[in-house]
Amino acid sequence: MLNKFDLLVPKTLDEALQQYAELGSKCKIFAGGTDVLVSMHGGHKAYALLMDIKNLEELKGVEYTPEKGIVIGALTTHRCLERLPAIKEVYTALFEGVSQVGSVQTRNRGTIGGNICNAVPSGDTLGPLLALNASVIVQSVKGAREIPFGELFPGPKKTALKEDELLIKILIPARLSNSASAYTKFARRNSMDLALLGTATDLISNDGKTCDNARISLTTAAPTIIRARKTEEFLVGKELTKDVMKEAGEIASAEAKPRSSWRSSEEYRREVLKAIVPRTLAIALDRIQKGVNIP
Ligand SMILES: Cc1cc2nc3c(=O)[nH]c(=O)nc-3n(C[C@H](O)[C@H](O)[C@H](O)COP(=O)(O)OP(=O)(O)OC[C@H]3O[C@@H](n4cnc5c(N)ncnc54)[C@H](O)[C@@H]3O)c2cc1C
Repeated sequence: MLNKFDLLVPKTLDEALQQYAELGSKCKIFAGGTDVLVSMHGGHKAYALLMDIKNLEELKGVEYTPEKGIVIGALTTHRCLERLPAIKEVYTALFEGVSQVGSVQTRNRGTIGGNICNAVPSGDTLGPLLALNASVIVQSVKGAREIPFGELFPGPKKTALKEDELLIKILIPARLSNSASAYTKFARRNSMDLALLGTATDLISNDGKTCDNARISLTTAAPTIIRARKTEEFLVGKELTKDVMKEAGEIASAEAKPRSSWRSSEEYRREVLKAIVPRTLAIALDRIQKGVNIP
């Protein structure tokens, strides 16, 4: 059973921001509702006032140019993203994230903005977006500002958005021709399950063998998503042999901060990282060698 609640349905971004400035934390933002409604149904939350933002045109649409990169409206659904050639062919790690969110029904409703603002470390778009060097534009009545993805999550289930700010869009930079990305989600089932662990890699290799740069993110491996910075530093300048990638997995496993939960133990999570980090690196390298994932 849902508790009784009032619903605001602003028609424009200005109207929404004005109402949000006045109501702040008294009002819960509602996009696709796949997280909000589930928490209300479960009886965990009883919001008295929801603001349905689905009518806000300013939060819709995707613009892609190979030179400038991609701009994704916060209300874009996972299903819409997984069907876009630019996501599948160019921002492949993000494709592999959005296409593994729940079921088709979940992806038809759930938005990328909602996945980000829900801020759980298992969110399937978070790791890919961090690896791909994304940032977000947030806005309040006072104006807009850009937040790099690495600064967006100060703690579990927390974002750096202020009480009166809405997430408007996500920016991902243009791709380099000698780069490729990949995301691996490790879960107990192939679908309809949250990531027990995940890792995304964005790799640059000019000769198809050596690592010129790597951005590696880890999902559910710490209280928030994290970069595996020691692993990235270890890889730069090295030929990506099987042994080097295996060692990268060991470094990532050591620098992660997984916890034991009912889902799995810390020790098990560390072992999984040793397997999925090299695997994801190998997939990205293979894509560079085959010319896949290139704008
Ligand atoms: C059956 C099922 C399976 C699922 N499986 C997965 C899965 O495999 N992987 C995964 O990552 N997630 C999964 N989810 C979670 C969920 O579908 C995603 O997190 C989804 O992207 C949330 O988007 P939404 O639009 O529904 O968000 P909502 O539920 O509307 O909102 C989520 C949160 O974000 C806030 N919010 C939303 N939009 C904005 C905005 N523009 N500005 C500011 N705040 C905002 C809301 O206030 C709320 O706190 C699953 C959910 C269900 C019900």
